[in-house]
Amino acid sequence: MPIRLEIVTAERVVFADNVDVVIAPGISGELGILPHHAPLMTTLVPGELIARKNGEEYNMAISGGFIEVRPDRVIILADAAERAEEIDIARAEAAKKRAQEQLVRSASAVEAAAAEAALRRALARIEVADRRRRRRQQSPG
Ligand code: ATP
Repeated sequence: MPIRLEIVTAERVVFADNVDVVIAPGISGELGILPHHAPLMTTLVPGELIARKNGEEYNMAISGGFIEVRPDRVIILADAAERAEEIDIARAEAAKKRAQEQLVRSASAVEAAAAEAALRRALARIEVADRRRRRRQQSPG
């Protein structure tokens, strides 16, 4: 029996389908969710979200948000989320550079925290996009 996965942001529905397993970047570590998982609600941190369906893998970058796990469905309210193929690597690299510069220049803990959060978002996007690129190089077509 599959599990229904819905990933939504304030802007759009990023993913909505029945899948076999969800792996999400939880605040306390990686969350692996199979059907009939115990109900759970927690925070997500920037990282990779993986959904598998019939042996196919869907990879997404999540910028943080909330995850609610129910026995038959997983609902993710993400700050931002992109499917691997949607990620603009040059934009993420530019955001990474900006965040690193801001981190060095930051004059307060608040500024530093904002720069660090931006850096984590950029790194998550780069990692997900890079992994997709490597996979495609290994199996072209
Ligand atoms: P930037 O400084 O490049 O805008 P950001 O981390 O501040 O990056 P967010 O505020 O997290 O961006 O996201 C704003 C919107 O832009 C969201 O819809 C998000 O999905 C999208 N987005 C951000 N970076 C990328 C990227 N590298 N590729 C594709 N979409 C992106």
